[in-house]
Amino acid sequence: MSRYRLLPTPAQEAVLRDHCAHARYMWNLAVEQHAHWRPGRKGAPGYLEQCRQLTQARAGHPWLREGSQTVQQQALRDFAQAMAAFFDPGNPAGRPSWRKAGRDEGFRIVGRGSQWDMRRVSRKVGQVWVPKAGWVRFRWSRAVPPGAKSYRVAMDRAGRWHIAFAVIPEPIPAPGNGRAVGIDRGVAVSAALSTGEMLHAPRLTGRERTRLRRLQRRLARATRGSNGRGRVKCAIARLRARETDRRKDWAEKTSTGIARRFDLIRVEDLKITNMTRSAKGARENPGRNVRAKAGLNRGILGSGWGLLVRRLKDKAPGRVEKIKPQYTSQRCSACGQVDRDSRESQAVFRCTACGFAGHADVNAAINIAAGHAVTARGGDGVAQPVNREPHLLLPSA
Ligand SMILES: [Zn+2]
Repeated sequence: MSRYRLLPTPAQEAVLRDHCAHARYMWNLAVEQHAHWRPGRKGAPGYLEQCRQLTQARAGHPWLREGSQTVQQQALRDFAQAMAAFFDPGNPAGRPSWRKAGRDEGFRIVGRGSQWDMRRVSRKVGQVWVPKAGWVRFRWSRAVPPGAKSYRVAMDRAGRWHIAFAVIPEPIPAPGNGRAVGIDRGVAVSAALSTGEMLHAPRLTGRERTRLRRLQRRLARATRGSNGRGRVKCAIARLRARETDRRKDWAEKTSTGIARRFDLIRVEDLKITNMTRSAKGARENPGRNVRAKAGLNRGILGSGWGLLVRRLKDKAPGRVEKIKPQYTSQRCSACGQVDRDSRESQAVFRCTACGFAGHADVNAAINIAAGHAVTARGGDGVAQPVNREPHLLLPSA
């Protein structure tokens, strides 16, 4: 997804706001219809049925009828896709939920086949076709990816408009050097490579963080519904958007670099959403370490790990392998011993058997690169409760 700043005229902005409202209306209508539906139970309308209902709704509501049918239909199609993702076991997507005014403002448009509705008018300015609004200018801040099939127009909480072109990145050919790399996601370090490289997802700068804290304090003091409060909220949203943009850029560049340099890419098989959920009420030890885990999870989500892995799979299809993460952080990459005491601290690994020492995340990344799904019983792949893990274990290979 590459995002560009959209620059509508005031008249166009009014049209875009209507499109957002219509898309949200259709989406929420679909959410309501699916609210009581469960798999195996008949009755929730599918996309085709919803399109028939859209025709009826337009006939009954002049407000909807004046809007773009393309935009409204696309909202239903997006919802159908979100439901499919929700029921896909390999995809930990959440259930599509209500969209709120002011928070989820956006709509999607699919290009009209061979006729691509986007053009460049000068070095810094492009135009994109939006139904009922006509050609809307956008800032050509970087190369627009060729082959974009659809685009999403959205307004952020700071009231700025953006356009994002949805493109599945082109696969990058394998370098053919036979090299494999392991990547370990970390918290302090966003990702460690088995080569020893540490990758840091960009954050806000120190000055920006100070400003953010100051704004948050001011927000807490501001009177509800006041103008000042609105302005502070805007400023906070703008800072957060800046950080998100930097993360996205980072994930794009990093995934391209890795796909170019290595034939085989091994990552931990990690369900980010599962880890985040478990902090609230883990089955094994409910309520324990909740605070510490919540902090860790914020770090994981914030580090852009999910996006990085998704982009790697897009750019290196068939060359990304997921490795079971059991004990990769407790196994010595030099001698193979598994001992939790070897993990001296968050950052330091020092093997209790052979004395090998190094950065803990890099040590784990080397295990991942080797494809070691280390298990307590020596490689049969069955996970065991952590408290029964033996302290000393010879490598199975
Ligand atoms: Zn060792």
